[in-house]
Amino acid sequence: MSDGKRQFSRRDFFSNFLKHVREDAEQRTEGGRDRPSAEPKYRTAVIQGRYCLAYQNNFCSVCSERCPEEGAIVTERGIPRVDADACTGCGICHDLCPAPRNAILLLD
Ligand code: SF4
Ligand code: SF4
Repeated sequence: MSDGKRQFSRRDFFSNFLKHVREDAEQRTEGGRDRPSAEPKYRTAVIQGRYCLAYQNNFCSVCSERCPEEGAIVTERGIPRVDADACTGCGICHDLCPAPRNAILLLD
C-alpha cells in the first residue's frame, strides 16, 4: 500500500536532469548569441533540504557544478549549502535544479 509519497527513481532524476540541460542550452543559444551567465537578479539563493535530491540520499551536484561563483555553494559529504556572502543571486542554480519540486529558493 502506498503512503502517498512519490518515489523518485533514478530514471526520473536523469529524465529531469536532461530536460533542464536541454532547456538551458536552448535558452543560452537563443538568437544565436550566448546570454550573460551570471546577471545578478536576487540577493541570494537558499537550498530547501526537503526538496533537494542530495538531502534525500540521491546523488546530485548540478547546482554546485554549475554555479559560476567560487565558494557560493559549498558541498560537505554530498550536501550542498549556499554561502550567502559569496552568492551573487544570479539564479543559475534555480534554473538548473532537476528536483521534482525546485529545491532552490531565490530571495530578493
Ligand atoms: S541541483 Fe537541486 S536537487 Fe541537486 S543538489 Fe542542488 S539543490 Fe539539490
Ligand atoms: S544564485 Fe546559485 S548559481 Fe548563482 S551565485 Fe548564488 S548559488 Fe551560485
